[in-house]
Amino acid sequence: MSVGRVRSIIGGLPTYKPGKSAEQTEAEFGISDAIKLASNENPFPTSPAVAEAIREAASGVNRYADHLCVELREAIAGMHGVSAQQVAVGPGSAGLLHQICSVYLEPGDTVVYPWRSFEAYPVFVQAMGAESVHVPLVDHRFDLDATAAAVTSSTKLVMLATPNNPTGVQTSVAELDDFLQRVPEDVVVVIDEAYHEFSDPALGDPLELVAKYRNCVVTRTFSKAYGLAGLRVGYLVADPEIVADVNKVLVPFAVNGLAQAAALAAVANRESFQPHVDALKAERGRVSAQLRMAGWQFPSSQGNFVYLTLGDQTMRYFQELEKRGIITRPFAGEGLRVTISSKEENDRFLTVLSEVQPIISG
Ligand SMILES: *Cc1c(COP(=O)(O)O)cnc(C)c1O
Repeated sequence: MSVGRVRSIIGGLPTYKPGKSAEQTEAEFGISDAIKLASNENPFPTSPAVAEAIREAASGVNRYADHLCVELREAIAGMHGVSAQQVAVGPGSAGLLHQICSVYLEPGDTVVYPWRSFEAYPVFVQAMGAESVHVPLVDHRFDLDATAAAVTSSTKLVMLATPNNPTGVQTSVAELDDFLQRVPEDVVVVIDEAYHEFSDPALGDPLELVAKYRNCVVTRTFSKAYGLAGLRVGYLVADPEIVADVNKVLVPFAVNGLAQAAALAAVANRESFQPHVDALKAERGRVSAQLRMAGWQFPSSQGNFVYLTLGDQTMRYFQELEKRGIITRPFAGEGLRVTISSKEENDRFLTVLSEVQPIISG
């Protein structure tokens, strides 16, 4: 039983489920060498320049850092050719998505998004007392006609993750542009690009749409391509009025000094991350080809993960893999999301998957 007069929606709120850690799985099954392919983390440690910046910043943790991350916003603005007034920094892009929800949503409002998508959206929306309207994927792709049709006068936000989590499917800028033309100007469209750096540049850069539509917000993160998941720093690019409102609900000093220093060094040294991003994209191609050769079904991914559409067998695969030390992310009855990691870890996954398959298909 809750203590105190908890808001009525809290009881029904789903709890965001993080991927299991390797240590938890090892303890549970009495095994060693478990590997975590469950949270789309970068298997490579962050760059030496970033690690050095974190060490240097450690001497200043007795002080509060810059609440509004002025220097980092300027660096990000410079990287993208926008003004610092168009950039907000938050504690992960998940933190920014939460801030966006608290700026726009009140009970009775709806948020429209294709589903399945990022697990945090329903939690954030429901926490505001608003309602999610889920638009089913068609052949793993967004149905943007149906998404536009689901927008009503009660709709405040639309969430579009591209590449989408967990499917990995990327939506082109041309499709997003066409969608934005059909959505009323007072509905804010959030393009969640947590996996931008792994995506196919031939499909366009969604940042172009921020210049074209005042109601378009693009969110990105240092967690995935830059290997800073544990430090919590992400950003968004949007109209300065949106940025000002989002900054109003930033928890004081939520982006700590180590995170700011690390992100600044990551921006300054961004070329140094490219070899790792390229290696992960190459591994994604290799793993995908091997899986297809073995007859597995899945949508072509532009993220740092693949999504095996195992339907009813999803949980059995998840459990059999886990027992053997391979931790993946299951969506019961639908599919298994598997992070692309180092060559060695990917090979272990492929080997164990091929061992497990005959056991399950019996
Ligand atoms: C990982 C992820 C995020 C959040 O990343 P942060 O670590 O909070 O920056 C946001 N959206 C999607 C779709 C993700 O997969």
